[in-house]
Amino acid sequence: MADQTRTAASWQDDARRDLVRSFGDRMAMFVRGEGAYLWDDEGTRYLDFLAGIAVDSLGHAHPAFVEAVSAQAARLAHVSNYFATPSQLALAARLKRLAGTGESGRVYFGNSGAEANEAAFKLARLHGGTDRPRILALTDAFHGRTMGSLALTGKPWMQEPFLPMAGGVEFIDSTAEALEAVIDDRVAALFVEPVKGEAGVLPLPEGYLRAVREITRRHGALLIIDEVQTGAGRTGEWFAFQHEGIRPDAITVAKGIGGGFPIGALITFDEASELFYPGTHGSTFGGNALATAVADAVLDEIERAGLVENARVRGAQVRDAVDAIGSDLVAGTRGLGLLVGIALTHPVAKAVVTAAQQHGLIVNAPNDTTIRIAPPLTIGDVEIDEFARLFGAALATVSDALLLENADDAAPTPTEAPA
Ligand code: PLP
Repeated sequence: MADQTRTAASWQDDARRDLVRSFGDRMAMFVRGEGAYLWDDEGTRYLDFLAGIAVDSLGHAHPAFVEAVSAQAARLAHVSNYFATPSQLALAARLKRLAGTGESGRVYFGNSGAEANEAAFKLARLHGGTDRPRILALTDAFHGRTMGSLALTGKPWMQEPFLPMAGGVEFIDSTAEALEAVIDDRVAALFVEPVKGEAGVLPLPEGYLRAVREITRRHGALLIIDEVQTGAGRTGEWFAFQHEGIRPDAITVAKGIGGGFPIGALITFDEASELFYPGTHGSTFGGNALATAVADAVLDEIERAGLVENARVRGAQVRDAVDAIGSDLVAGTRGLGLLVGIALTHPVAKAVVTAAQQHGLIVNAPNDTTIRIAPPLTIGDVEIDEFARLFGAALATVSDALLLENADDAAPTPTEAPA
């Protein structure tokens, strides 16, 4: 049981002493959630426009989620992959249908996005074996923190303390020309993050996926798309690759498909489905009855309630609302569906996040000049109106502080407008 007598100061001390230091100070202590709202240990309510970084697709404590967790926990939680369970097979069939794999598709279940990408890395190695030692990935893309997924992550500062990386990965810019310039028949796979979330919510250029699909196919390389953040309807399609009507060889998913329950998966298409053979990969927890029952219920609710369409419509509404605030601090918005980046004119994103929290709004800053918005897919007019009011207030707080600084002759350097 949690210690209910803790004070604000003491939980921060406990966190600093007892939790791994790879995360900074925790920003709040949350004790309850409902819909798009969170409550902290002092009873203060927050509008949650981060949703656990694009995880809580149905918001907090959604009845479909609660029912699935409790009913499946009471029935059967875990039996290992020596055995099948109905929920595992149901979720695999649903993911194949939603991804459009057809009969040829197969699903590997893990417990996180990084694990899904680890499986995808092994898939790439199995494809072509030593004849195809090269793997291509995109500069600035993020694929996870485990050693394999980190090797695929195009951020040298993240890799540096853990060198040497798993070999064979080369990074290229996100243009078809950059791919064309380096690809040959020794490339096993191209890994793509369709909206670079950690890099500042940067969507790939329009037409990029169609172009690289053609180039990778011509050279016999797999096209593997990391849908960990973009999947489960967040971008206004079930998966971001569907905006371009292509057929990848594999996608990885996690985050939003579990709605808060840890699960990840690799979904393969066509011949890529035949690469794994017995003994080549596995996970004790992966695909257990409880996780798959919950994810199946979450996806069922997203389908039933039309939340993919809602993500598309509400995403546009959120961006219009940000524009309508008319703040000098906002350079523009970008993104797909309900994965929105708000570009700032000054490197004050951390100050905006702090001010937003003080006004009762949770958002996130992937870098100094971007605010990331990834609310539950369930949001409607009420939440968006409240977001606009709170975010406008946060921007005004930071703007006022900047004006004061300017008055003190310490003008900050404006950043460039977003591409
Ligand atoms: N891939 C992408 C695109 C992500 O955004 C993330 C997490 O932020 C990951 C992979 C890693 O997922 P996880 O943190 O569940 O391991």
